[in-house]
Amino acid sequence: MSDPLAARMRAFGTTIFAEMSALAVRTGSINLGQGFPDTDGPAAMLERAVAAIGGGFNQYPPGPGVPELRQAVSEHHGDHYGLAYDPDGEVLVTVGATEAIAAAVLALCEPGDEVIAFEPYYDSYAASVALAGAVLRPVTLRPVEGRFTFDPAELRAAVGPRTRAILVNSPHNPTGTVFTRAELEEIALLCQEHDLIAVTDEVYEHLTFDGVEHIPLATLPGMRERTVMISSAGKTFSVTGWKTGWVCAPPELVRAVQTVKQFLTFTAAAPWQLAVAYGLRHELGWVLSLRADLQAKRDRLTAGLSAAGFDVYRPAGTYFVQTDIRPLGFADGLALTRELPSLAGVVAIPTQVFYARPERGSHFVRFAFCKQDAVIDEAVSRLTRLGKAEDGSG
Ligand SMILES: *Cc1c(COP(=O)(O)O)cnc(C)c1O
Repeated sequence: MSDPLAARMRAFGTTIFAEMSALAVRTGSINLGQGFPDTDGPAAMLERAVAAIGGGFNQYPPGPGVPELRQAVSEHHGDHYGLAYDPDGEVLVTVGATEAIAAAVLALCEPGDEVIAFEPYYDSYAASVALAGAVLRPVTLRPVEGRFTFDPAELRAAVGPRTRAILVNSPHNPTGTVFTRAELEEIALLCQEHDLIAVTDEVYEHLTFDGVEHIPLATLPGMRERTVMISSAGKTFSVTGWKTGWVCAPPELVRAVQTVKQFLTFTAAAPWQLAVAYGLRHELGWVLSLRADLQAKRDRLTAGLSAAGFDVYRPAGTYFVQTDIRPLGFADGLALTRELPSLAGVVAIPTQVFYARPERGSHFVRFAFCKQDAVIDEAVSRLTRLGKAEDGSG
């Protein structure tokens, strides 16, 4: 039989994450590839999920989401950002941020429409755009003075007559960049000049470091009305397996996204929604301590990777450190990460897989630090062998 997969999805065969995680298991390597924490979320919130199941909260919840969660999301965005979203009509609960992104792109784009995204980008963006029959227009983030950013002229040049939307991920996976107000103003101006819709992936909204503030694009003048703002409990509360996210937007945009979402999944799982509502109301102190812990882990891993000989980009947010492998004498991140288990017993992700044009990211490798300190320390001690191996071979 010829390949049964539809042509528009053939470029998305197997993800690097599957390959690298299998490699980690097969070789007994430390896995700093996967972006999920190896510790649990707040205990009282976990208890709420158990109680919800035990308490008979197990049938289809309303399509837009459980009212308690929509209310808690609305309060959260009001308290944190001064953004008012009506829990009835401006908040939609989704099966993680991933479904929210897919439903938004499918809802907003006609076939042939163009969607701008900053590369390297989260891997589901290109797949969602392809599912919609739309075209992804990448704008490359490049290191400038130690952090990844875009060239405003390149961003402007990416806009054309078919541009419908821009996907904005800040704090940004995989570079760790948190967009500044000036960067967001560039994006906002462009959206207003060309009547674009912004779809913002803010899953790391609470995970910023050194006092860096996360600024939702929707808080900029003129942007709330054209922004589909997406969050998720997965990263905020270290429950990536719960797949509970939400969209906040004006009613007509929420209606559009919900029209698609209802036929993808109809609704999201009920018990997690009650538990996450509890988390948003009572566990933001826990999130602050998670943020402090992650900052210390970032410092631990960045110091270790620098000592091992990598050029390290210090992230202002997220779970990830971006490194340049060239100082160690390597040029291709894909080749290095495939060899890394035998060279050092560590698994990482070649950043080039997050690019539309992989050659632009061939020398970058991403390491995750949302891991226990002992795991990070062991990985670092193994990685210092890399530089030594280089010394030995001259
Ligand atoms: C983890 C992640 C997601 C997926 O979130 P879910 O809620 O698990 O679907 C989306 N975007 C980025 C940038 C992520 O890192």
